[in-house]
This record gives sequence, C-alpha cells and structure tokens, in this order.
Amino acid sequence: MIRPVPSVGAMAAYALADLGGAQTVSLAQNESAFPASPAAVAAGQAAMSDLTLYPDPEWPELRTAIAAAHGLDPARILCGAGSMELIGCLIRAFAGPGDQVLGTQYGYAFVASATAQAQAEYTVASEVDLTVSVNAVLAAVTPKTRIVFVCNPGNPTGTLIANSEITRLRSSLPRDVLLVVDQAYAEFADPTNDPAEIFALADQGDTVITRTFSKAYGLAGARAGWGYFPDRLAGEIRKLLNPNNISIAAQAAAAAAMRDQVHMRDVVVQTAAIRDRFAQNCRDLGLTVPESHTNFVLIRFASAAQAQAADVALRAEHLLMRGMGGYGLSDCLRATICPPDVMDRAHNVLKGVLT
Ligand SMILES: *Cc1c(COP(=O)(O)O)cnc(C)c1O
Repeated sequence: MIRPVPSVGAMAAYALADLGGAQTVSLAQNESAFPASPAAVAAGQAAMSDLTLYPDPEWPELRTAIAAAHGLDPARILCGAGSMELIGCLIRAFAGPGDQVLGTQYGYAFVASATAQAQAEYTVASEVDLTVSVNAVLAAVTPKTRIVFVCNPGNPTGTLIANSEITRLRSSLPRDVLLVVDQAYAEFADPTNDPAEIFALADQGDTVITRTFSKAYGLAGARAGWGYFPDRLAGEIRKLLNPNNISIAAQAAAAAAMRDQVHMRDVVVQTAAIRDRFAQNCRDLGLTVPESHTNFVLIRFASAAQAQAADVALRAEHLLMRGMGGYGLSDCLRATICPPDVMDRAHNVLKGVLT
C-alpha cells in the first residue's frame, strides 16, 4: 500500500470555504465587491495573446510598479502565487521540527496549516476583545519560538492595532525571532496607519511584511501577492519559491492594478461606506459587530444556535457567509462586503431571523 510520510498522514487538510451551489452569492472569502481596474483587465488580456515563454522569474514590471507605489527597494520585494505561497515558504525556511511558530488566537488559519507542513508546532497568544494583544504575544514567546505571525488588520476579526504597537512588538522580541506582519487588508486601513512605518521594520533585518492583490485590488483569481524582505532573508525565500511562479497574464494584470492607485482607493472608499452602513444595520438589530478596518465584518450573535439559524436562513436565500467554528467563534459569521443590493438582502434575512 502507498502511504504518505507520517507527518502528512497526521495532518488535517486546510479547511476551504464551502461555496454552495451555482446561484449562491459568496460572502465567504473576502474577495473584492468591485472588479479590478479596467487597465489591469486589459493588461492581463493583452498578455494572454502570447504565452509561449515562461514568465520572467524576476517579476520586473510588477516589482517596479510595487516599488514605485510604495517607495520601496525593488530588489527586496518578492512576489508569490498569492501571499499564501510566501507565507508557506517563510515558515519552511525558518521553522522545522522542534520549533514553534506563534500566531494569535484569531490569527489567519492558513498559518497553522503551513506550520504543520513544515513539521513545526503552531502555538497561539490570546487576543483581548477580538484584538491582537502585544503583551500577550510577548508573554507567549518561548525559547523554541522561531517566527511570530501578526495579521493587522486582523482576519477574521477586522480589528486593527496601531503601528506603534507593532513597532513595540518588534523591539521587544528577541532579534533571532522573525516577525511576519500579514497586511492582506492594509489598503483598507492606510488612512489611519502610515504603511511606511511598517515597511521600515524590514530594514532592521528581522521583519517581513506581506501584501496581496486578492483583496483591495480585486485580483484574487490571478494569484498574486508580494512581500517586503530584509536582503538576507529574501535570498533564502527565493530558494523555496516555485520558479516562474506567477503567470505572465497575472504579472501584467497585477502591475497595471498597482499603477492604478486611484481605482484601488475608490474601491476602498466605496467598500468602507457599504461596510459601515451594513455594520450599523446589524448593530441596530442588536448584533455585535466590531469596528472593521477591512472588506468584511465579523457578526456576533447572541448564541451559536442563533448564528446557525442565521446561516440556514441566509443559505435558503442563496447567501453564504463564513462560519467561524474553526476559530472557536461558533456564535459568529463573517460577511465579506459585497455590492449594496447583496448587503441589503443579507440584512433583511438577518432581520427576519432576529424579529
Ligand atoms: C486573503 C488573505 C491573504 C491573501 O492570500 P493570497 O494568497 O494573497 O490570496 C493573506 N492573509 C490573510 C489574513 C488573508 O485574509
């Protein structure tokens, strides 16, 4: 009989979102409510006309666009087939059997999965009020901790901690512990948190920042993410990335999307307006919704049974939110912000369940 290696046999498969049937509207995976920049779509389509050659493994056009938009050194930007590829490589490069990777209580679930693939141990620090607590993270560091993962703004909570807290975390951690700041939703928080303060941490040699085109840029289907690395760490990660990892069309589309900051900002502003209105409507129904700095909201019901009833009622109307049982939040559903008509339908269903 063919058997996997024991560590893979013992691993749980990554819990993918249940996407329902064909007519279902997904509010489950935090994709953008709005299409990507028309310039990005056009660039991707044009690139599709000739796919004879492998994509450039140095992502030159894409890196140039990212570096220009953010004022970064292009040589220290690495691109991945989604930031998930970079997160997986980071864990495999810097943690192995006997090592610990420290996340937070409601941190990104994929990190636990990638840690298991590296045969390292995943541990978590408690959050306070659904928000990362730097003190709790520092208290949870052990001599075995090799990597600390903080997602800011957080998924699935939507909450944000100040840049000064991230900076304090970095300066209080041992220098041989890698800090990874997952900023998949940073574009939604830019106005309050200057991104340059976080990118500057990578200059110290012990911090990596990851970003994605899957959320604010509306390109989840393209699979493009990026990170800002200290020089020496970038060299190690490169050894683990798949060569030619991002297709020619995805590189072209992502580069054009990055050059169209006006479109991205407009998407962020419109999404935030729909989100804040939906969140207030939910609060008016008596639900608890933490202030979100992302393109989704976490809805807390009176009980797990009520959340379950809401999920059933939403599905009957072909609306699918993400259940949160895997995070120990079975009294919650996470709702991706969609166009206003979808959010109004969702609000009406919730109203029916609660009254
Ligand atoms: C969506 C998301 C990502 C991005 O994943 P991609 O592989 O870039 O699509 C990373 N981290 C978090 C917390 C996310 O929610």
